[in-house]
Amino acid sequence: MNEKQRLESQQVQAQDSTDKKSGKDYSKYFEAVYMPPSLKEAKKRGKEEVAYHNDFGIPEELLGMGKGRKFYIRTYGCQMNEHDTEVLAGIFMQLGFEPTDSKETADVILLNTCAIRENAEDKVFGELGHLKPLKKERPDLLIGVCGCMSQEESVVNRILQKHHFVDMIFGTHNIHRLPQILNEAYLSKEMVVEVWSKEGDVIENLPRVRKGNIKGWVNIMYGCDKFCTYCIVPYTRGKERSRRPEEIIQEVRHLAAQGYQEITLLGQNVNAYGKDFPDMEYGLGHLMDELRKIDIPRIRFTTSHPRDFDDYLIEVLAKGGNLLDHIHLPVQSGSSEVLKLMARKYSREHYLELVRKIKEAMPNASLTTDIIVGFPNETEEQFEETLSLYREVEFDSAYTFIYSPREGTPAAKMEDNIPMEVKKERLQRLNSVVNEISAKKLKEYEGKIVEVLVEGESKNNPEVLAGYTSKSKLVNFRAPKSAIGKIVKVKVVKAKTWTLDGEMVEETVEVK
Ligand code: SF4
Repeated sequence: MNEKQRLESQQVQAQDSTDKKSGKDYSKYFEAVYMPPSLKEAKKRGKEEVAYHNDFGIPEELLGMGKGRKFYIRTYGCQMNEHDTEVLAGIFMQLGFEPTDSKETADVILLNTCAIRENAEDKVFGELGHLKPLKKERPDLLIGVCGCMSQEESVVNRILQKHHFVDMIFGTHNIHRLPQILNEAYLSKEMVVEVWSKEGDVIENLPRVRKGNIKGWVNIMYGCDKFCTYCIVPYTRGKERSRRPEEIIQEVRHLAAQGYQEITLLGQNVNAYGKDFPDMEYGLGHLMDELRKIDIPRIRFTTSHPRDFDDYLIEVLAKGGNLLDHIHLPVQSGSSEVLKLMARKYSREHYLELVRKIKEAMPNASLTTDIIVGFPNETEEQFEETLSLYREVEFDSAYTFIYSPREGTPAAKMEDNIPMEVKKERLQRLNSVVNEISAKKLKEYEGKIVEVLVEGESKNNPEVLAGYTSKSKLVNFRAPKSAIGKIVKVKVVKAKTWTLDGEMVEETVEVK
């Protein structure tokens, strides 16, 4: 659907935005609180001050709400969503709920959704279809939709029209309101819709239940102000808000003391970290320089934006130690013209210069990337520039995508004029270059000894353990189960298409 169709369909939806269950007219709700994506409005938001809160608490009357009840959360999309799920789980636990991994035994089911691509949204609507009979069977079951999709007006309207059995819809800025939202859903039995389009402030003391105890994610900032023309994130996640360094350092220290082996610093555009501090010049390089002194074996970060990747960060990363030299650096296209249409704010030449600097400072650095093919107006020559850039940089691997418009973004107003067969053919050609170079890079590992953080049994064979190298290569090897959670040395015996097979040489780092 393009922007024009979206606006037309909104008029139809406005006439039918009544929650059949409650009789409430939610079109009025959106008139009051929802702002559709607007570049003009969003540009002003950078000037608004961020407030930091440390006052999250469960109201006394809601404590024990979950006694005897279980929750189930299904997470879609990126690590940011995984991280939000950890917070949601933490709040559920404080309310007295217990986790369950089966929908059948759950009293509350939450779908923490992703809006980045159309097929991610289709999956959520498919899942809602599957949940309908469960709700019919057990009317007391609460079903909620949260995450990025809930920030989209069209999605909320579709749920209101076609999925009346959903009990709660809440947005990415309303996570801390889960206790009140659940309470309202239990009391009123009406669909509870709470989507704040104003980006939230930073709330520091939210509870969290982390998945596993080997690798931990630490949010360093929220939101994005880059406004790439194809991307919905600046609208669903709000403006850039950095956490204060002392809070992050304390969290990483705490994880180190608990025996975590690897930390990934998270943000939609981590290189913009600190730009919003009004009182100091402090960026990702400064933060990494402090974190490298903490006794934790591995620290990574994601996702980078080439435009904000500065020389000081390269200088700090080159110090090595626990700062890993695997950098995910999305390029999206190898053509400066296409990059301009995407509003990526760098050119092919700028990107290649950045890669040169990184490789000069860190000769063993591995780079991975994201690429979109078939962006509006992309010519064959421009696509070939992407292929040639890929060969020049020799990325270790890439996430490759066919362009599809996201409603409400500036690119959705451009004509989506590359036929699907052409997009598919370009994707295929790109993937064959990606595979060829990945295979070559993996082959170079044969006979070498690598350090592997062992995460557990391999998915396909419980006799085999699996873990990742510092450059995120998956290694399968036989070793005693006691190696799980440790960093061990493994000799690579065979490179497969996507993974390495090895033999353990020795254990190197004890779990604390
Ligand atoms: S930098 Fe990333 S998250 Fe931000 S708008 Fe661009 S693609 Fe989206």
